[in-house]
Order: sequence, then C-alpha cells, then structure tokens
Amino acid sequence: MAYSVMIIEDEEALALLLKYNLEKEGYEVFWESRGNKAVVEVEKNCPSVILLDWMLPELSGIEILKLIRSKPDIKSIPVIMLTAKGEEDDKIKGLTSGADDYVTKPFSIPELMARVKTNLRRSPEIIPQKEIIFEDIRMDLVEKKVFRGENYIHLGPTEFRLLKMLLENPGKVFSREVLLKSVWGDNIYVESRTVDVHIRRLRKSLNDYGPDYIRTVRATGYAIDKELIAEEE
Ligand code: CA
Repeated sequence: MAYSVMIIEDEEALALLLKYNLEKEGYEVFWESRGNKAVVEVEKNCPSVILLDWMLPELSGIEILKLIRSKPDIKSIPVIMLTAKGEEDDKIKGLTSGADDYVTKPFSIPELMARVKTNLRRSPEIIPQKEIIFEDIRMDLVEKKVFRGENYIHLGPTEFRLLKMLLENPGKVFSREVLLKSVWGDNIYVESRTVDVHIRRLRKSLNDYGPDYIRTVRATGYAIDKELIAEEE
C-alpha cells in the first residue's frame, strides 16, 4: 500500500511544488487549502503523514492540530508543521501542542522529503485500521462491534479486547500473563484464572454462530487459529 501525505497549505505555488515532489517519490497526495475543511479531509483520507501550514485562513494550523489530536481515529497521524521564518515561539508552541516535527520556510525539498520519511518511520500505525477480519469473524473497530457472518455478536468490553488481541495476531499463542497485562493493564491485580473465565465467555458468544477458532494451548495460553483445534491436550 502506498503511503499518503496530506498537505494543508493555502499557498498554491508551494502546495503544488510539494505535491509534485511527493508524487515523484511515490506518495499519494491530498491537498486542502481551507482551514475549516482540513479536519474533515483528514478524516476522509486518513493520510500517513500531514504537512500542516501554520497560517491558514478560517482556522489556524494550531487549531487544526488540536482538533486532529482530539479525534481517536486520526490522532496518531504524524503532523509536520510548516512555519515561516521568525516564528520561533510558534515552533515551540507547535511542538508542545502535539506536532511531531516542524520545518521552517523556506525549506529545501530534500530536507522536507527526509522529514516525511523520518515521521513515517516513527508512526507505528500508519493508517488507522477500521476492521479486522478473520475467517467469518469481523471486528468493526470504529463501531466496536463484532459480527460472525451476518450475525451481531454481543461482547462485554473485556471479551472485546481479548478477541482484538487474538485477532491482531492470528496463530500466535499468548500466555495468560501477557493477556492479563495487555487486556487488564499492569495496575490491576487479577488472577490468571480470570483469563480462562473471560475466554470461556468469549467462546460461548462466538460459537453460537460458527466453529470454535480459539485454541487452548496446554500449559501455555490461547491463540486464534483457523485449524479447528479447540483443545490441545
Ligand atoms: Ca499560509
């Protein structure tokens, strides 16, 4: 999948120059010049990196940045602020309000390209995932709902997180300790037997509509796998 860059910049000449050079490097490029449309466009396109101008009509770069950071589905997208020379204070403001990086205008194209690459590497989740599909199981990450075929599966929040962890790594066996840490968190004291209780609930809900893909690996833990091995004894 190609990486994409969203340019939020009202100077057309600069935006077109950036677009041309980014496309030459193989990026898909979106450009928005209006501040008040920027956040909607980011949500629609889910770019891998955002280049955000500081001074924009209608809504400033910093206001846009705050809005981006307040929305769970787009808040982890790296943002590089484009600031004009002499806005040193603004740079600091930009970084403290959540920008990942900044570039001072006028900048060289190779410098900007390098920054884009660096920020792509920094981002663990380039494109926010909207769903996970495993065989006939579909997890909608936006609506936080699980379906099996056409059937809606009602799950409690713990079962949902457990299933998400398993679905994100099909075939991988997780120990009860690892599941406890990632699903319940470090601070809460829970017995590892609790994992078994919730796995049982998860199985019960899921298996009303299809085969049991959750594997119990003796003395180890759990995995989701399309081999139909419910119990390995
Ligand atoms: Ca501007």
